[in-house]
Amino acid sequence: SYLINQSKYAHLNAFVSRVEPSVLLARTGSSRLTSEGEDGRLVLNDKPIAIKDNICTKDFKTTASSGILRDFTSPYDATVVKLLQDAGAVVAGKTNMDEFGMGSHSTHSYHGPVKMQRYEDEEASAGGSSGGSALAVASAQCWAALGTDTGGSVRLPAAYTGVVGFKPSYGLLSRWGVIAYANSLDTVGILGTSATSVEAIFDQLNLYDPQDPTSLPPSTRSRLGSKARASDSVRIGIPLDYNITTLHPIVRNAWVRTLKALHERGHTLHPVRLPATQRALSAYYVLAPAEASSNLAKYDGVRYGSRAEGIDGTPDSVLFAKTRGQGFGPEVQRRILLGAFSLSAQAIDNYFIQAQKVRRLVQQDFNKVFATQNPLLDETTHAEETEEKVDVLLCPTAPSLAPSLSDVKAQDPIQAYMNDVFTVPASLAGLPAISVPVPIAGKDRTKENEEFSVGIQIIGQYGDDKLVLDFAKELE
Ligand code: GLN
Repeated sequence: SYLINQSKYAHLNAFVSRVEPSVLLARTGSSRLTSEGEDGRLVLNDKPIAIKDNICTKDFKTTASSGILRDFTSPYDATVVKLLQDAGAVVAGKTNMDEFGMGSHSTHSYHGPVKMQRYEDEEASAGGSSGGSALAVASAQCWAALGTDTGGSVRLPAAYTGVVGFKPSYGLLSRWGVIAYANSLDTVGILGTSATSVEAIFDQLNLYDPQDPTSLPPSTRSRLGSKARASDSVRIGIPLDYNITTLHPIVRNAWVRTLKALHERGHTLHPVRLPATQRALSAYYVLAPAEASSNLAKYDGVRYGSRAEGIDGTPDSVLFAKTRGQGFGPEVQRRILLGAFSLSAQAIDNYFIQAQKVRRLVQQDFNKVFATQNPLLDETTHAEETEEKVDVLLCPTAPSLAPSLSDVKAQDPIQAYMNDVFTVPASLAGLPAISVPVPIAGKDRTKENEEFSVGIQIIGQYGDDKLVLDFAKELE
């Protein structure tokens, strides 16, 4: 049936390359549910899993949806891809995305936009930048998918397409073979139809990788919260700073309804303040482009990247400019300019340095509200014990539902950046966060939105990935 859906939904443009139908058929015909391997972990027998096109695979091109990588095939598989295959999974293909992960609607792609079908004939945003992965899962073209999440790129598409999207704590999943966007924020994330399937994949991938210098070493891993839950009753923090005026009423209702249902089940609710939230988005859009401008410098048509046509023998400056001017799309060029500016001598103090300070404040906000201490910090830095502490935070994933593609086209870049207000703080702090689809309430249900859901986000302390995944199951 995955195969049937792959041809039935080809027009959604979720995939940029696919496994041969015969391979998929031979492998997945006998597909069983996940079962336990010898070491007790779930194995992914013949499950078709789609891979975002910025994660290297030797059997498929890896373009990161960029013209500059249009002809690139990696000589090796990324660690995460290798681990999935070792566990028995089949790579279903590579998924469409915003170029190099820069975007929120999967429309900035060399391969054309990802299109979510809605209300008979309306095309809507699948979210970005892992929109292809999310839509591939939502339309059952694969069992699950890998994406990457730098500032929300797994969680936002999960919310818009109605699937589960998990961004693990920074440094847990290997980034070896993952094309860098902003190294200090980049994580590999997982999309699936349930928290259980996402967790099965997480368990396979959550390993130290000596090839990735930012992979968390075993000595630190052993200090992380390993238990799913301390007690049946979870202390849920409600970040009041996320109740912004532009929050769509349908989203606010879903948030309130979810909180009520959890309270009725015996969990306790605690309003908390995260005052640096307001400035987190601006800080992110200074830091991420700064790192990107540096990462993308190597694509010049000499060291990396497809050279522009007909310019051999021209001076280097012309060769670089033509290659980069033609190879990068407009949004990527905008980010390079932004990043190069904020790192320049006249701007670094007012932009980059300030943004780093805001990032620190965002991290401190989170450490103040969580009951568990951040295992990466010294005991002494723990905040005052007077305030009420929580186990998880619960808030919307995005301020609105998926916009139509025509609305997206009419947006200016700043409006597109606004979609990330609720996802960026956990990225700046490196925290685990998951988006779970919650059905739209009866009274909000019109003929138009009846199939749709709202993405609700659960954020945990650094290393509390199991708690976040476990708690997500309560929302299903
Ligand atoms: N929309 C955000 C950006 O464009 C997030 C992207 C991501 O997480 N890769 O930077």
